[in-house]
Amino acid sequence: MEERPFTDHSYEQFLNEEKIMGCRCRKCQALYLPPRPICINCHGADMEWVRMKGAGTLHAFTCISVGPAFMAREGFDRSRPYCSGVVLLEEGVRIDARIEGFDNTHPETIKVGTPVTAEFLHRGEGEDMRTFPAFRPVPAPPGR
Ligand SMILES: [Zn+2]
Repeated sequence: MEERPFTDHSYEQFLNEEKIMGCRCRKCQALYLPPRPICINCHGADMEWVRMKGAGTLHAFTCISVGPAFMAREGFDRSRPYCSGVVLLEEGVRIDARIEGFDNTHPETIKVGTPVTAEFLHRGEGEDMRTFPAFRPVPAPPGR
């Protein structure tokens, strides 16, 4: 499918294209996210790219009111905490991500196991563009 090397750089390039790409070992089927060139399970080096659907459940999270400077520049502070977490994807792998769409000032309302869907936060432009995966709750079906 894709001929890019199985590196963090390729992973970030795919994120810029709004794709979450992991890789699967063709020999033992182990799945890796982010991708790695050598399988830690069977030591094989025959990998293929696998695109994640971007659906999963919230696995763990933390709301952060005193974050790094780049988050402060986005307007987050003690009165407006942001949420960082881990999502368990449908494919069975975990991804570190920003968690959006919850009331971060009331972390007790955020439930592990909530179904979430991926979106992409682009920062910077051109060569400097970096993209961060973020997940927000799947909207409840109408009428609920
Ligand atoms: Zn393997």
